[in-house]
Amino acid sequence: PFFKEYLPQAPMQPLALAAKLNANENPYGPSPMAVSAMQEYAPKGNRYAWKELYQLMDKIAIEEGVKQENIMMGPGSSDLLEKTAMVFFQNGGNIVSADPAYMSLIKVAEATGATWKPVPLKKDWSHDLAAMEAAVDDDTKLVYICNPNNPTGSMTDHDELIDFCSRVSEKTPIFVDEAYLGFLDDATKKSMVSLINEGKDVIIARTFSKIQGMAGLRVGYIVAQPETLGIIQKITRGGMGISLPSVYAAMASMDDVAFKDKSRKLNKECRDYVYENLDRLGFEYVPSSTSFIIFPIQMDGKPFLEKMTAEGVGVRAFEIYGKNWCRVSMGTMDEMKLFTTALEKVLV
Ligand code: PLP
Repeated sequence: PFFKEYLPQAPMQPLALAAKLNANENPYGPSPMAVSAMQEYAPKGNRYAWKELYQLMDKIAIEEGVKQENIMMGPGSSDLLEKTAMVFFQNGGNIVSADPAYMSLIKVAEATGATWKPVPLKKDWSHDLAAMEAAVDDDTKLVYICNPNNPTGSMTDHDELIDFCSRVSEKTPIFVDEAYLGFLDDATKKSMVSLINEGKDVIIARTFSKIQGMAGLRVGYIVAQPETLGIIQKITRGGMGISLPSVYAAMASMDDVAFKDKSRKLNKECRDYVYENLDRLGFEYVPSSTSFIIFPIQMDGKPFLEKMTAEGVGVRAFEIYGKNWCRVSMGTMDEMKLFTTALEKVLV
């Protein structure tokens, strides 16, 4: 692998932070409609949420343009990334992904017995689909693609990815993690979900944690072929880990289009503000399609995080391709101002 992350000792998120920009959380959420639903249905917390879960799955299926049998729910998409890894790699095999990538599924795959075949991103930070296709061999059990990618925030061209998934899924299932897709203006057009109705063996993960601001309420899902979900669900159960009030919150959140539009707009304003300030301070950066920005820094991760934390600002530090990088999540505009002030003090 070409990248690693410097992870501070617990607690990773000290309570004293004035600007918590280290976990790609939505600073505006949850939607007020989701909060009301949580409050209204908290007293029904003595009941299991089976009926309600199916209601939510119906609603999601309609929104995604697929059938309910194509949906599996989880308490956040992490649960589904991890379950997929455990089920697919029980008997070993290898996983092909970009490097750097979001590591949750890959780490569990490795712990279960898989070999990771990392493929560096291209110079423009998109996936090197040709090299990934070449890396697929008879032992490949899954290809993992995070689009837009974390921790780089970069996007791989939709048409090229559709073409890749259509072809390569004939050989091996492809898992596409679309956690940050909702921050694009034309997210529905950029999704890989259309491949489901073409019968392709792709698994698409989505979450209520990012654009919908529900990271702490834990709702996510995957969209896949019923046979593929059958394999995963033979060993693990879907949806059992989601609390009943969270199910209602998710349904309410789906209806609150204005909240998502607001999150998208304010996220973009903050990104533009950070770009302007990084330009002013002489930093390069990777243009982002997400709710975070990554840029190279001239300091090791450990002292950098310590100094930023001392300024009350929580960010993340990575080492990628031999350089140090800071990843900053978009918070409120006030938080981004604290961030740029701290950055200037620590690094300029
Ligand atoms: N996928 C990506 C790319 C992420 O960045 C995250 C969280 O940061 C997740 C999945 C998991 O999110 P959750 O479990 O909250 O759905």
